Formats: sequence, structure tokens, C-alpha cells
Amino acid sequence: MAGILFIISAPSGSGKSTLVNELRKQVTGIEFAISWTTRPPRGSEENGREYNFTTHEQFEQMIADGVFLEYAEVFGNLYGTARHSLEEARIAGHDLLLDIDVQGAKQVRGKLPEAVSIFVMPPNPKVLRTRLRNRSRAEGVINEAELYRRLHEASKEIENYRDYGYILVNDILDRAVAQLEAIVLAERFYRNGEAIAYRSRRVLEVAAGCLQVNSHERLKPVLEAFGIIGGASGQQQLQFEEDSNDD
Ligand code: ADP
Ligand code: 5GP
Repeated sequence: MAGILFIISAPSGSGKSTLVNELRKQVTGIEFAISWTTRPPRGSEENGREYNFTTHEQFEQMIADGVFLEYAEVFGNLYGTARHSLEEARIAGHDLLLDIDVQGAKQVRGKLPEAVSIFVMPPNPKVLRTRLRNRSRAEGVINEAELYRRLHEASKEIENYRDYGYILVNDILDRAVAQLEAIVLAERFYRNGEAIAYRSRRVLEVAAGCLQVNSHERLKPVLEAFGIIGGASGQQQLQFEEDSNDD
């Protein structure tokens, strides 16, 4: 494709959809691929807007027909990106953003190694739990089993962070949005020579600060909180569980 392919992954509840929505308000020329999924719609989701919702049978048929660039099973449901999303973005001359899980990201990187990949992390497990719970409340459904499933999957997904070129820690929303925007603008600057006006130097600095290779100090407390570094007992110490009414 002529435009840049951006992949963004994150443990569920990290704030990836929130960040992507903000990015789309602020940056033009980037399309968002609407995935196919067998999961039922959640809250105010509409078919064709957040996802193309479909049945398991139809999804299997689409796999057989070679419709997907990638697909994966996530939390017991199938999710996939249709190849034609890339083609449409290419024809329009736009960049394309894929919001996909770590398995799908691996498949896309294998096929399109030039893709720019971004991993979003929540600052710690407690914040993640609170965000997942708040989202469930806002949607009017609190499914405890599903919530804990997503929480316990989070550390496993975060272990894949080294596969990604850029890392965002979504602590303060405005800062994370500015960092995501800086990554997109910096990549356009480096790859297409696109001007980024007077803010250019700052934008390039912000994006460089998010490169995974420059993120060791920033990530250390996050990885420790999720039990990924800092001793084998880390997993047992994760602060997911209810310990007070702190949310
Ligand atoms: P994801 O797409 O990663 O599953 P969402 O974007 O749905 O996550 O965010 C999960 C919840 O966290 C939502 O209720 C959202 O409003 C909230 N949220 C996202 N980012 C932040 C942030 N930086 N600070 C506080 N709340 C946030
Ligand atoms: P949710 O059900 O919360 O919308 O999404 C669950 C997970 O599925 C998230 O990690 C999200 O990135 C991932 N996902 C959404 N669409 C796709 C897709 O097309 N392919 C893959 N592999 N994962 C997807």
C-alpha cells in the first residue's frame, strides 16, 4: 500500500479505542479498518461502525474464501481484518490503522514488515481493573467472569511488548493522545517527507521518546506492576483483586 500501515495493540481496557477515537479527530488522512467479529455487539456498538458483526459460520466461510489478511481467536471469539481494507486505503491514498490483538499483529508483521506497530499499556493492573469495570458499568453490563478473564490475559499480552516499535503508557489521556499523534506525524515525516510545520522538532522528540528502544526506564515500573520483570513471584502479587472500594 502507498500509505503507512499502523498496527495498534493493547490489553483490553487499556484505552486503545479511546486513544484511536481521539487520534481520528485530530489527524486526517488515516482510515480505521473495521474488523469482522463473531462477538455480539456491546453497549452502543453498531454493526458496520465499531465492527462488522457476523456469525461463526459466516466467519469460517470467509476464512475459507481467503477474505482475511489476518484473523485470531480472542476471548473465545473470532476477529479478523479483511484484505480489502488495505486496498481501499491504498486507493484513497490514506494511511490505515489496524486495532488488532498480539496474534493478529504477528501475522501482519510477517506479511507486511514495513508496518509501524504501537503497543498501548495501562499504567498498572489496578488502573486496568478500574477502567474495565467503569466501561462495563457505562455499558450497563457487569460480567465479572469476562472482566477477570480480560484482566488475567493482560500480563500475557504485555509480555509481547518487545515485538512493537513504539510503546505508549496510557496514564494521562491527553499525554497519550499527543504521543500517538506524534508517532503518526513523525512516521509520515520520515517515510514520506511530509512537513510537520513549526511543531516538527517537538513532535519528533515526543515520538522518539515512545520508541521501544528508548523506553526501558519508563516501562520498568509498569512491567514490574504486571509481574513481567522483578521476580517469579510477581504474578502472585498482581493487584487485580478487590481490596477496597477504590473504584
Ligand atoms: P480498550 O479499547 O483498550 O479496550 P477503552 O478505550 O474502551 O479500552 O477504555 C476503557 C475505559 O477506560 C473506558 O471507560 C475509557 O473511557 C477509560 N479510559 C481510557 N483511557 C483513559 C485514561 N487515560 N484515563 C482514564 N480513563 C481512561
Ligand atoms: P473487544 O472485544 O474488546 O472489542 O476486542 C478484544 C480484542 O480483539 C482487542 O485486543 C482487539 O484489539 C482485538 N481485535 C479487534 N479486531 C481484531 C481483528 O480484526 N483481528 C485481531 N487479531 N484482533 C482484533
